[in-house]
Amino acid sequence: MRSRVYLDWNATTPLRDEARAAMVAAMDVVGNPSSVHAEGRAARALMERARAQVAAAVGCKPAEVVFTSGATEAAAVLGRLPVGRVEVEPTAHDCLWAQRRTGEGVRALGWGYANNETGVIAEPPARDDGAALMLDIVQAVGKVPFSFAWSGAEMAVVSAHKFGGPKGVGALIVRDGFDVAPALMGGGQEMGRRAGTENIIGIAGMGAAAEAAQRDLAAGRWEEVGELRNILESALSSGANNTISVGNGGLRLPNTLCLIAPGWKGETQVMAMDLAGFAVSAGSACSSGKVRASRVLLAMGFDEVQAAQAIRVSLGPGVTKEEVLRFADVWCAQYRKALSRAA
Ligand code: PLP
Repeated sequence: MRSRVYLDWNATTPLRDEARAAMVAAMDVVGNPSSVHAEGRAARALMERARAQVAAAVGCKPAEVVFTSGATEAAAVLGRLPVGRVEVEPTAHDCLWAQRRTGEGVRALGWGYANNETGVIAEPPARDDGAALMLDIVQAVGKVPFSFAWSGAEMAVVSAHKFGGPKGVGALIVRDGFDVAPALMGGGQEMGRRAGTENIIGIAGMGAAAEAAQRDLAAGRWEEVGELRNILESALSSGANNTISVGNGGLRLPNTLCLIAPGWKGETQVMAMDLAGFAVSAGSACSSGKVRASRVLLAMGFDEVQAAQAIRVSLGPGVTKEEVLRFADVWCAQYRKALSRAA
């Protein structure tokens, strides 16, 4: 029995063995991929292999993959499209963000395809003629089938550490022929779309993780994760029948459970479960020491009090049935204690 149970896979995932091995091998590659000599070509070959692996996992062409330091940097190109003012709005349903640039109407729309807090999957709304669409597929890649080619989007952003790769590396996917100004300028790397010598070690790890994740998805490992999530969800709702399971009944990531426990603060839940050996996260975000209610939950129609009582439990392959049932037992016992203290 493991003394710590990690149930925060939407925050980040454990590094996969395949990624670790690829990174260790890449550490001995001397060359700069921009150099033309044999050492440089070896580095480039490694990077191009990773590009093909990432492309296969997201359903795009290798030439459409631009490596970046992560999804946040990749999304920054949205700010460089030649359009007007930026508006960030919470959406009517619970997607991560809808970022619109206005001026002559909506010109570019950023859309969180699968929400990190609730796991809810939502297709983007209809867009104005000529508007570009950027999909944040960070939480979807490796967990549910997704094809950039079929999505109709001009751009997408991905992050390696959400599917078993290392932190600090990701990619911007740009449709062939769609022109974006690079967010980082300098050298002409990545076909002029992202300057700076590439993070070969991270990229090799990302490629290996993408390939392994795609294999796991095809083998049905995330359906097994989905079954465990459902077991956990019913154990929690039968142990505490006043809880609300956010997004239950709709299309959701198979691994995510967002639970509102009336009368018990999310932050306190996280601390109590941490002491009991479980890593989960609160549905609210903490910035500058101040806890803010989740915009996503508010946009879904929950009030501030409910939003502050949410936790997110996110599973991954490797989590066992024994662990989720133990989590449910401990959580229910702690909840009863918290309610009796409050009474
Ligand atoms: N988009 C979503 C949906 C996320 O969950 C995250 C990570 O928390 C990001 C973007 C940011 O990714 P990165 O850490 O690579 O910048």
